[in-house]
Amino acid sequence: MHNNKDLILSAPLSGPVMPLSQVPDPVFASGALGEGIAIDPTNECLYAPCAGVVVHIARTLHAVTLRADNGAEFLLHVGLDTVALAGEGFTVLVEQGERVEEGQALLRLDLDRIAQHATSLISTLVLINGDRFRSIPVAGVSSITVGQPLLHVSAVQSQTALDSSHSSTIEPARGRVRVAHSGGLHARPAALVRQTAQGFVSQSELHFAGQSSSSNSLVGLMGLGIAEQDEVEVVCLGEDSEAALLALIKALSIPSAHEQPRRPSAPVVTLNATVEEGVLQGVCASPGLVSGPLFRLHAVHLPDEPGQQVASVQHHALHTALQQVSADIQCTLHSAEQRGEDEEAAIFSTHLALLEDPGLLDAAKLAIDQGCAATHAWSQALLAQCDVLQALGKPLLAERANDLRDLRQRVLRALLGDARRLDIPIGAIVVAHELTPSDLLMLSQHAVAGLCMAAGGATSHVAILARGKGLPCVVALGSALLDQQSGKTVVLNADQGQLELTPSAQRLHHVIEHHQSQVQQRRTQQQYAHVPAMTLDGVTIEVAANVASRGDAAEAHAAGADGVGLLRTEFLFVDRNTAPDEHEQWTAYQGVLDAMGDKPVVIRTIDVGGDKQLAYLPLPAEANPVLGLRGIRLGQLRPELLDQQLRALLRVSPQQRCRILLPMVSEVDELLNIRQRLEVLSAELGIKHRAQLGVMIEVPSAALLAEQLAEHADFLSIGTNDLSQYTLAMDRDHAGLAARVDALHPALLRLIAMTCVGAARHQRWVGVCGALASDPLATAALIGLGVRELSVSPPLIGEIKARVRELNMAECQRWSQSLLGLNSAQAVRQACQRHSMPHAFVQQQQQQQQQQQQGEPPCTST
Ligand code: PEP
Ligand code: MG
Repeated sequence: MHNNKDLILSAPLSGPVMPLSQVPDPVFASGALGEGIAIDPTNECLYAPCAGVVVHIARTLHAVTLRADNGAEFLLHVGLDTVALAGEGFTVLVEQGERVEEGQALLRLDLDRIAQHATSLISTLVLINGDRFRSIPVAGVSSITVGQPLLHVSAVQSQTALDSSHSSTIEPARGRVRVAHSGGLHARPAALVRQTAQGFVSQSELHFAGQSSSSNSLVGLMGLGIAEQDEVEVVCLGEDSEAALLALIKALSIPSAHEQPRRPSAPVVTLNATVEEGVLQGVCASPGLVSGPLFRLHAVHLPDEPGQQVASVQHHALHTALQQVSADIQCTLHSAEQRGEDEEAAIFSTHLALLEDPGLLDAAKLAIDQGCAATHAWSQALLAQCDVLQALGKPLLAERANDLRDLRQRVLRALLGDARRLDIPIGAIVVAHELTPSDLLMLSQHAVAGLCMAAGGATSHVAILARGKGLPCVVALGSALLDQQSGKTVVLNADQGQLELTPSAQRLHHVIEHHQSQVQQRRTQQQYAHVPAMTLDGVTIEVAANVASRGDAAEAHAAGADGVGLLRTEFLFVDRNTAPDEHEQWTAYQGVLDAMGDKPVVIRTIDVGGDKQLAYLPLPAEANPVLGLRGIRLGQLRPELLDQQLRALLRVSPQQRCRILLPMVSEVDELLNIRQRLEVLSAELGIKHRAQLGVMIEVPSAALLAEQLAEHADFLSIGTNDLSQYTLAMDRDHAGLAARVDALHPALLRLIAMTCVGAARHQRWVGVCGALASDPLATAALIGLGVRELSVSPPLIGEIKARVRELNMAECQRWSQSLLGLNSAQAVRQACQRHSMPHAFVQQQQQQQQQQQQGEPPCTST
């Protein structure tokens, strides 16, 4: 119950007063925590500056957060770096949750003790919900004694205040949660939190370590410095506060799909290699081996500060520039979504959110009000925030500073009218201090060969984008990189994280040959990608694509896919806060069918739960979500959602090209229930010839019951990702087990064999849509065991088709049986490697082995 009235805060300490910007600590000085004031204390007690409630006392007792009766919240932070004192020198005189009166003693301070261990005694009073309140220091105060007026605090009318905009009878919903996002609350998880919060009417905040941020402010959220496994408090206030709280707790406690490690394309990080003469050593961010002319890319140049400016003109200029950049980013985002580039889309939607961030905008506007030019105001606001992120000492957050630098540059370019017409040679190796995501997109349009950065990290957004575009990229090469002259020919050996500055003619020749042979191989494979893949003895294997959108489907079709083998419908609406209705779903499914010409499309019903969460579909928290209500089991919880999706699927046309696939089936009844629902719904819709119905084989019980399932299903599709997880009892996203969650494990091959045998008894076809289908090493084993459709990631269609054409089905059938008797995934991989080598090479190897056994020197050529 907050009265929202203006308030005068009295001094909590006695001593000299200074603005926050003079505090020798970037976190306070930049205003990242909020507006406020600082006092260098001369007395030994901290007093309440107003009446209110003690909402938080730091574990280390050096800071207290108070909420005044008007809803304004203040952090009273004693000294700098005093957290390190672990409570020494502080005696707390109140309790968390206690109501205090103005002037009541809060903390007793042993100033001598604190001064001995802390960096400084300077203490701060910071308004932490600055999105709802403004604070102005009482004029002309340079030194103060306890109780004298210090700050004037007033509510910001235009913004919805967390507490004040709602009926005073509504109590906030509160909950605590451990943050599960790897690397903590960096930009993308923070953007997810913001996006989730925006789906509700309620206002929400995150509280952590005596600080808080509105869920609307990305920089505020990141500035909290929340690490993975830190516990935070979520507070929501408004009509739908309970639902908002539940959704935010989900968003914080479950890593988003974008964070799932991508196998098998994880970058190879090479550190500590010996640096040779003329070679710079860095870290591989995206693999590859290329050569080309070095091109130095310079950052945008900010002219000298032009002196006092007219605020209204500068506000207008900034507003126009922000609109221009926002429109550009929206274009990039839209195009990424169309192409189904989920990671690229996620990066640029974070940029959009940062561009609207109240923390950044307010800082820039304040500087303009004080006479700054828009260019300098924007630049200072962004750089201050970069410093904050860097000062948190968390590498992932420090890397997010690069996203802010990107926005700084983009807006500066818009303000300065710098369209950046660059003459970058085709095939260049671009060198920069640190590239930004938009630099990368611009460079990829210039057909550059590779990227090198003096700074940066392998987990940065630029690295993610470079990997997605197949552009070799090395980061952290050091400042020596920037001394190199444009124009000289260099070799970028990104696999080894190296830039070779003086390659010999022979080395260049080798690199060029290697590159050309790779390009040629891909080109040849692509030439035949539209032709059906047939084994040497005439068996056709359907090579389809896994897609997540209409754009993906169009690309897959162009790349030669024989169909869509898996449309993951849960990814179609992943960025929404409201559930798509039947018509929207129909439009999306029909779009994918239309993009595929006359080819079949397998559409999987929604597979949420476990590692896949949707903001609009908060599911109850489960102790063991991967073993909980996921996949088809959602029908148990929300049957109306499944019916709605089935209706949308029954309405796509032609139904003959649509195949419905059910995820996570573990027994026959689940299939029979859906069959029955489909019959009822198609009768209601007047549909006579309806889509085929298949089940995913992704839990061992389904593989073991394949024959019974095949009796009632039209086809089976093996999900090797989950089948590995559930067969090997290893979390598919467990970083420490990643190398062992190998679908080529003989136990999985046995389940695959069993599935094919069971399906054959009822003349059903079997496909594989898990990641194993995209592994060329596994092709012979899979088709040998009886798989007739491989649904792969679109760039691999040509390669997998080429692999099928090299194989003889009868031989694969014999050979694959031998794999079932092996002991480990490693043994199977080795056998597959031997099998995939050209025949002449195998003979040569065997000959060498025999010679070595007989003590003869091995031949070096054939
Ligand atoms: C699988 O489990 O192999 C599969 C294809 O489904 P998803 O990866 O979407 O769980
Ligand atoms: Mg699965």
